Amino acid sequence: MIVVFLGPPGAGKGTQCNFICDRYALKHMSSGDILRRERKEGTDLGKEAQSYMDSGKLVPDNLIVAMMMKEIQAADDAKGFVLDGFPRTIGQAEALDNAMDKAGKKIDVALNLQVDDNKLEERVTGRRSCLKCGASYHLVFSPPKVENQCDKGCGQLNQRSDDTSETVRSRIATYHEQTSPLVAYYTKKGNIADLDGNAAIENVTKQIVEVLDKV
Ligand code: AMP
Repeated sequence: MIVVFLGPPGAGKGTQCNFICDRYALKHMSSGDILRRERKEGTDLGKEAQSYMDSGKLVPDNLIVAMMMKEIQAADDAKGFVLDGFPRTIGQAEALDNAMDKAGKKIDVALNLQVDDNKLEERVTGRRSCLKCGASYHLVFSPPKVENQCDKGCGQLNQRSDDTSETVRSRIATYHEQTSPLVAYYTKKGNIADLDGNAAIENVTKQIVEVLDKV
């Protein structure tokens, strides 16, 4: 099964991906996570991506497409995968379709997680995570037991450098300008499923399971 996950920053894509990858044994491919790894390792790609990421702009298509194609090819033997944060432009979506055609594969469904803009900023700026064990928290919705400390005793929690109010606003604007046209793109192809991402986490999961159980 090949799934594309669409949705603005803070929609809950990462949270839902963890669940569906477990349930359906799919590989989670997050373009944002891969870019953060490249930055941490100080690669040329990581250095080039830095200024775009810090300002909430998109990294150029040619860099992202090459990066994701490598990742997809490496996952060839996996049962399937979920693309989280890719594609984010029409150009990326077309490049993905071409690659899928050549490989004789198809995208089964594009999940479109819709959340009202006024909810996104609070969701994103409150996010914290533990870099050691990967646990995720939210200052309001799922706070750690002790302020800013991982519940598993790993130490201090981390806030992503692009999860600040100013950058989040820029990322939301970028989403509307460059990524939301993908909704029409996949609607035309007839493989989109609209989901209400304003609902509670478990309710969103239920909506997703209803869609993926039919794939
Ligand atoms: P995310 O973790 O998905 O919120 O992505 C963090 C940042 O990485 C974005 O704000 C972009 O600067 C960059 N990025 C991630 N995925 C893409 C993509 N598909 N195309 C362009 N830039 C991306």
